[in-house]
Amino acid sequence: MGNRILIVEDEAKIARFVELELVHEGYEAEKTEDGRQGLEMALSGRFDLVILDIMLPGLNGVEVLRRLRKESEIPVIMLTARDAVMDKVSGLDAGADDYITKPFAIEELLARIRVALKRKGGNRDSGHMLEIGPVKLDTDRYEVTVKGESIELSNREFELLKLLMTNKNIVMKRDFLINEVCGYDYVGETNIIDVYVRYLRTKIDDKYGIKLIQTVRGVGYVIKD
Ligand code: CA
Repeated sequence: MGNRILIVEDEAKIARFVELELVHEGYEAEKTEDGRQGLEMALSGRFDLVILDIMLPGLNGVEVLRRLRKESEIPVIMLTARDAVMDKVSGLDAGADDYITKPFAIEELLARIRVALKRKGGNRDSGHMLEIGPVKLDTDRYEVTVKGESIELSNREFELLKLLMTNKNIVMKRDFLINEVCGYDYVGETNIIDVYVRYLRTKIDDKYGIKLIQTVRGVGYVIKD
């Protein structure tokens, strides 16, 4: 399956052009013209790379990236206006992997995408099997083992554990975890994540005498390496 690329760009002609080229190259592409929505989509975990324009309605590209980087290491290529040196600097400061100046040749963008995906791929091959201490999680086969023993998790428990393991050493906020595990349209108990953490602790920590998921009071949860 092709890599999935998100295009966040409010200039419809550019967005459409890039989308067509990406699809032509065998990628799957989706686009949005709004910064805020772009951030939400980029955080959804459905994409492998983001092409992010700087001047956007809703939330500008640098701010989108700054917020994105709190939760995710997804590769981001920024689009900047010609000679906007400040844009480049603030984009790279905010954690962009690369930037490209408009107007750009599509071949150049495609080349940068390949480089960014390859760089990411280096970390990713082992990403199908996440491992922290005695806990192993196979993201392809939906299997979790602790000390070599397979354990049964519900879908939401699995997704929660996967998120925390993928983002090890990063404190994950409750709101973010609710959105990711239960969906953005979730309406219900706000302590739902605490409930799933409790289930996970019963199945893993208590049973195997380890301390996997740590509570950060008032904020959320973290799994430390
Ligand atoms: Ca723009």
